[in-house]
Amino acid sequence: MDKTLERRIKEAPKLPRVYFDHAATTAPGQEVTKLLLSVLRDNYGNPSSFYKEGHQAARILEESRASIAGGLGVLPEEIFFTSCGTESDNWAIKGAARARQGRGRHLITSTIEHHAVLHTMEALEKEGFEVTYLEVDDQGLIDPRTVQAAIRPDTTLVSVMMANNEIGTLEPIDEIGAICRKANVIFHSDAVQALGALPVQPRDLNCDLMSFSGHKLYAPKGIGLLYKRKGLRIERLLDGGAQERRQRGGTENVAYAAAFAKAFELSLAGMESESKRQVGLRDRLIKAVIESVPHTKLNGHPDKRLPNNANFSFEFIEGESILLLLDSLGYACSSGSACTSASLDPSHVLLAIGMPAEIAHGSLRVTIGRETGEEEIDRFLVDIPLVIERLREMSPLYADYNKGKLKALIPPQGGMDVKMKGGYGLE
Ligand SMILES: *Cc1c(COP(=O)(O)O)cnc(C)c1O
Repeated sequence: MDKTLERRIKEAPKLPRVYFDHAATTAPGQEVTKLLLSVLRDNYGNPSSFYKEGHQAARILEESRASIAGGLGVLPEEIFFTSCGTESDNWAIKGAARARQGRGRHLITSTIEHHAVLHTMEALEKEGFEVTYLEVDDQGLIDPRTVQAAIRPDTTLVSVMMANNEIGTLEPIDEIGAICRKANVIFHSDAVQALGALPVQPRDLNCDLMSFSGHKLYAPKGIGLLYKRKGLRIERLLDGGAQERRQRGGTENVAYAAAFAKAFELSLAGMESESKRQVGLRDRLIKAVIESVPHTKLNGHPDKRLPNNANFSFEFIEGESILLLLDSLGYACSSGSACTSASLDPSHVLLAIGMPAEIAHGSLRVTIGRETGEEEIDRFLVDIPLVIERLREMSPLYADYNKGKLKALIPPQGGMDVKMKGGYGLE
């Protein structure tokens, strides 16, 4: 057995950790945490209070809202602060479905949505709503024609994500939104993964409702946003005080709202160059992994994909064991999505793109970020072939394959022709 891997595991604690899980969460930067702490300390007033401390907090809140609205090209009164992306998804979907149930109880979504959408849909099914789950192709794309075909007279809402959090595929939501608008159906999109990486203009994308979350774009966890088109009425999710124009009870999280606005502003300022930089790193990583590790394929679309996302399947081995070895080598990665990594079921997204469960189990998601440089990619490209080789040496499936008892599902030279055009949807 080659001892190189042992040597690298021994040396890893002396090297900096490599954070490759930006789709799970991101580390707030200095500017954001500095602002956050100063608002927490100096502007603790309740924005609903009628005295100076309250007015100051309200001003910070409204300035944050206006700044975010400006970046999204919408009106400040179309922006609502929530506690997270999950709340925004729940509110948008339950709120719209319940508000329109007099007109119909049919909803449409896709099979590859985040659990914040899928489990919300399941909860509505228990209330008597009927949900159509649209299938995707083998790269995770939704064909807008399937949306058109699924719309019925009693359909009230369609929810399709802008960018998938596991495989990175970017969906044609502008076209889907246009179909919904024509059919007079509300269109919601979970754009949590897209914000900060791609231009997001809810109006141009024909969205009525859009969900966002701070911690995916270098703001803290615990703050989200819902865009709601002016004039659209949906039911409240949180009954309570008169906050957020009476539509979401709960004292506003002023400091986190300010942090969100700052993080969004910073991401917009550097977006074009940063996304191009990440696409360069991403594509170098993808090409090198597929070339250097046999029986490996890229999951998702080759260029309609998030600038920071690479998702691989390595045949004959388990994703969990890849993660453990990578962790001991200094890397934080994910096996699909952070939400499913506590269970042993293969990812619903990988199954939805038609991947056999055997291969879906051996999947790895690498999501880079603004701290990622060439050095981290170089280091990873040394380690990943060693990891996969070692795990295959221990794999009974790989032994069977070598004895000719098992056929490979992914050919040795890679399961797809990697013709990447360096795309990410900005062009
Ligand atoms: C992270 C994520 C969410 C949930 O956001 P939270 O703020 O963690 O609740 C929803 N949708 C997508 C696509 C995500 O990536």
